[in-house]
Amino acid sequence: MSGHYRAGMARGPVDIEALRIREGDRPDLDDRDPRATPGYDGDKESSVPVMAGLNARLEELQELLYADGRHRVLVVLQALDAGGKDGTIRHVFDGLNPAGVKAPAFKKPSSAELAHDYLWRIHPHVPGDGELVIFNRSHYEDVLVVRVLELVDEKRWRKRYGHIRDFEQMLADEGTTIIKIFLHISPEEQAERLQDRLDRPEKNWKFETGDLEMRARWWEFMDAFEDAIAETSTDDAPWYVIPADRKWFRNLAVSQILIETLESLELRHPPAEDGLDQIVIEDVPDRP
Ligand code: ATP
Ligand code: MG
Repeated sequence: MSGHYRAGMARGPVDIEALRIREGDRPDLDDRDPRATPGYDGDKESSVPVMAGLNARLEELQELLYADGRHRVLVVLQALDAGGKDGTIRHVFDGLNPAGVKAPAFKKPSSAELAHDYLWRIHPHVPGDGELVIFNRSHYEDVLVVRVLELVDEKRWRKRYGHIRDFEQMLADEGTTIIKIFLHISPEEQAERLQDRLDRPEKNWKFETGDLEMRARWWEFMDAFEDAIAETSTDDAPWYVIPADRKWFRNLAVSQILIETLESLELRHPPAEDGLDQIVIEDVPDRP
């Protein structure tokens, strides 16, 4: 195995326990520094080989998840606009085998989707045996943007915390391992990233004026995230709040969470057929 980090031999580079929200706890987002790097005392430059090592290990584990075929893994990724969801998926899942990985994105619901309950469009995308699925936005939009923009009334969205807990518990009870990740950026960092989308022609396509309306509601979104995380972080489907202003730290943290989650599954290659050592690969017979 290549890489500088070998799980099981040393602790990973990031203190991921500091990022995990325990069942019943409420994350105080104002109190959490989006520029923090808990557990890691290096800088961006020193993180490059560390990230390469994590990436190699994740590649290995995902291959094993696929070969083993007994486990399903769901990663829910949530962030505000320019929070780094796409970049996280690109970097952390770089080099993984596309046959076993999917990253569905949940955008504004279509009219057909709106004609059903909010979990209707989600359920078909959960992972099957051997699969690693990353939700780029998710059913959490239905207690985040839907709440902030008052797309349904409070009585209705409040009940959704319970539905979501039950839905995820059902998935977990039926064999899905779930982790949920909130990429926590500062308003200053978002401003820089949005400005960059305005300034660089090749990034203009990512800029949406609608993002500015959402930005104006920053603190309402923070309240909505705090409530959603407090209401739905459970032992079987925990939330992690990732300080995400520094992209390199974010990538280390998400990679390590994934690695430790996959390692906890004790994955193994399926048993080989008996007598493989007796098998001889013969030449193809002569063409008749
Ligand atoms: P980027 O960060 O690159 O802009 P994105 O995830 O924001 O990517 P967009 O197509 O820009 O992708 O935005 C999707 C939009 O759909 C978001 O504003 C999100 O809040 C909205 N959305 C997602 N799910 C729902 C939902 N259930 N109800 C209402 N709006 C939703
Ligand atoms: Mg967007």
